[in-house]
Amino acid sequence: MHATTATPATRLLDNYIAGRFTPAAASDALDVTNPATGAVLARVPLSSAADLDAAVRAAREALPAWRAVSVIERGRRLFALRQGLDARREDLARSVTTEMGKTLDDARAEVARMVEMVECACAIPTTMQGRVLEDVARNVDAETVRQPVGVCAAIVPFNFPAMVPFWFLPFAIGCGNTFVLKPSEQVPLTQQIAFEVLDSLELPPGVVNLVNGGREVVEGILDHPGIDAVSFVGSAPVARLVYERAAKAGKRVQALGGAKNHMVVMPDAVIDETVKGILGSAFGAAGQRCMAGSVVVTVGEAHDRLLPPLCRATEALRVGDGLEEGNDVGPVISGAARDRIRTWIDEGVKAGAQLAVDGRDVGADPGGSYLGPTILDNVAPEMDIAREEVFGPVLSVIRVATLDEAIEVVNGTRFGNGTSIFTESGAAVRRYRHEVEVGMVGVNIGVAAPVAFFPFSGWKDSFLGDLHAHGPDAVEFYTRKKTITSRFFSTGQGSGGYFVER
Ligand code: NAD
Repeated sequence: MHATTATPATRLLDNYIAGRFTPAAASDALDVTNPATGAVLARVPLSSAADLDAAVRAAREALPAWRAVSVIERGRRLFALRQGLDARREDLARSVTTEMGKTLDDARAEVARMVEMVECACAIPTTMQGRVLEDVARNVDAETVRQPVGVCAAIVPFNFPAMVPFWFLPFAIGCGNTFVLKPSEQVPLTQQIAFEVLDSLELPPGVVNLVNGGREVVEGILDHPGIDAVSFVGSAPVARLVYERAAKAGKRVQALGGAKNHMVVMPDAVIDETVKGILGSAFGAAGQRCMAGSVVVTVGEAHDRLLPPLCRATEALRVGDGLEEGNDVGPVISGAARDRIRTWIDEGVKAGAQLAVDGRDVGADPGGSYLGPTILDNVAPEMDIAREEVFGPVLSVIRVATLDEAIEVVNGTRFGNGTSIFTESGAAVRRYRHEVEVGMVGVNIGVAAPVAFFPFSGWKDSFLGDLHAHGPDAVEFYTRKKTITSRFFSTGQGSGGYFVER
């Protein structure tokens, strides 16, 4: 995304409001660029408060009709959504790579996860069931039913243009809510395809709405009295802002923030497999994942066993356009992001870290925003590079002597999204998984992002709220519980006289 003006021929994206692709009323727009080449792909409108208001009004008006559709029929619509997305998998994946930069294989895996979210939500007639207990007192029954929350909104980041919006949308509408999505203004194209699929389902107008834009739309969502629940995924400072402002306005809110994820390598780790796991975790999507492993903590002699093969494998990674077969690492999202990440590396070196692999001057298309995979060795836990999220292909290595020290390093940061341990020792795994203050743990797995059927359960500054995204938490988030305690006094004569009063 750049502030430059696109050619007049460049497509200006629509919003999707009340069952129609609709031009935004806003006059401002930004270029959407391909980070691999710098080419302008489209222009995205910076929608105004009026655009958002139109979407929220459509969503509110649709609520009674959508809630009245049987839950089984809502489930069937999700099956149709799954089929529709499945038929467009390759278009979605190419769009992800073109606007975000990750390799096509990685984008295909993302789209597979997107479809999996819908598959999980298809179980809504089962997962939305309540509970009943008879005879809580003489002739008295108690039951809890789940009802939709109302109009739900999601604000999402640039790094998963296909999947992250679908952590929310299928669960929200499956539970009978209506929905407003604000995609990242840096990657708005993939959701245009998703909404073409949604459009083909002929849902009642207003059930799903798409409002493109930036900060003004976000602030509108947080304050709008017509919105009942807000889901946010993005950087830690914005997550905090969203959480506090939406909660103050009385909304249900979940805010998933940034991360700093550690991979602990024990001396007995199977090195070949560990190298593969670390490479995918640290450099996949050019390190732009909230579950990216950005720090390796080597315990004892693990350092000397791991570093030489890890550095060799890192140097062998091919950097280039994610659409081209054979490239392992695509560009980062923008030139500004590349410059920011370079500064992180420079600062790390100044603070005393040693460059084991230097990717700063990678030779790739000068129009694109490329940065090669970089490894910094001898990083100390108190250095900024070890504590703050870099969000680029940069891996720090911290050496410690014991598992206790490794746990101390991991628990010493303010984030708690993901972590992994590489070892064949069950006892070390038991200690580690029990003691780390991190919400998602991988054992000999680099990126332990849970599948759709489990919650995405970050801790500490990586998550603000009570109920996580997808899995069983999604139904909790998107429903309100109503508990009914009941008894009846009549003798039941009106029902044929079979009822005898006790
Ligand atoms: P970001 O915070 O810059 O943007 C996220 C969303 O917030 C976008 O839709 C953007 O338009 C909006 N936004 C940005 N600045 C804003 C402001 N000042 N006021 C109001 N709205 C604002 O994040 P990003 O750069 O798009 O994404 C990368 C970040 O997202 C990383 O920190 C990453 O760790 C995080 N992330 C977290 C998870 C998770 O599950 N915890 C998942 C994916 C990404």
